[in-house]
Amino acid sequence: MQCPKCQSAMEKVPTQDGVVDRCVACKGLWFDMLEHEDLKAYAKMLDVGSDEQGQVHNKIDRINCPSCTNSPMTRMVDPGQPHIWFERCSTCFGSYFDAGEFRDLASFTLSDFLKRFALTARN
Ligand SMILES: [Zn+2]
Ligand SMILES: [Zn+2]
Repeated sequence: MQCPKCQSAMEKVPTQDGVVDRCVACKGLWFDMLEHEDLKAYAKMLDVGSDEQGQVHNKIDRINCPSCTNSPMTRMVDPGQPHIWFERCSTCFGSYFDAGEFRDLASFTLSDFLKRFALTARN
């Protein structure tokens, strides 16, 4: 598999609950159908890229699915954390996360909750 954002190779990274593909260059992560929901516990171990790199790549939003090539991916927004944009393939339902995004997604925590609470409280 090739990274849909920088065309480098993707390597297999095994966890106890499944195997993830990670780009050797930009550290973007590829998850098969809804796999990312089950693998949040491994976010720190899997998502080792830099936030800066992720932010650069986050601007690339027209990519084709690396798994079923030539199938364009759709930009998605995480409903719980709308600042996180990722890409999903509507054919195989795989998802691509830029470096740092999966860590961010998995750490939906008190601080996100408080941020939202603070916003609501102000209005
Ligand atoms: Zn890459
Ligand atoms: Zn696909």
